[in-house]
Amino acid sequence: MARYTGAVCRLCRREGQKLFLKGDRCYTEKCAAEGEYHPPGVHGNDRANKPSEYATQLREKQKAKRYYGVLESQFRGYFRMASRKRGKTGDNLLSLLETRLDNTVYRLGFAMSRAEARQLVLHNHFTVDGKKVNIPSFLVKPGMTVALKDSSRKLEKFKSSIEANASRKPPSWLDYDAENHVARVLAEPTREDIDLPVEEQLIVELYSK
Ligand code: SF4
Repeated sequence: MARYTGAVCRLCRREGQKLFLKGDRCYTEKCAAEGEYHPPGVHGNDRANKPSEYATQLREKQKAKRYYGVLESQFRGYFRMASRKRGKTGDNLLSLLETRLDNTVYRLGFAMSRAEARQLVLHNHFTVDGKKVNIPSFLVKPGMTVALKDSSRKLEKFKSSIEANASRKPPSWLDYDAENHVARVLAEPTREDIDLPVEEQLIVELYSK
């Protein structure tokens, strides 16, 4: 599956806020979005004036895509799935994105960023319901269990990530057994479970034009 491979700090500057795409570095003063910043490019500041309604909706969609590291066609696919489900399309959209396996792994504290979580899933470090799954976009469902593979538990990489993320509490839709590195999906995440500063209604308006 294709993914964005450009400079990620540029994306934060474009959105005018930190998107936490680089793990550790995002929490240090080395973060390129610390202090005053403006959209990238020579004319970055020119574009910052009074965005149109369309531009505001577009930026919100771009922001959500970038948080979860998905490209346009895949994002549209999630939107279509969300609109077919019962309830608010915007809430359904974020809930679907949140249940991606790479995001679940990130939420459980096994990785410092979603991009790193994606790599770890691709490298076969996790199982779902006891079976190896190496598809970052795999959607976990209530009742499923996600676990770090036995053979991966002793890897230094995981020891350090787990230690660094020890204070990060897993969301309430996941029941995490930290001793055995296994989590059970309790429910589909609700909007309240998702701490991202995204106005999902603007994305719905954009795709409804
Ligand atoms: Fe964004 Fe992280 Fe880069 Fe800062 S370090 S600009 S938060 S990706």
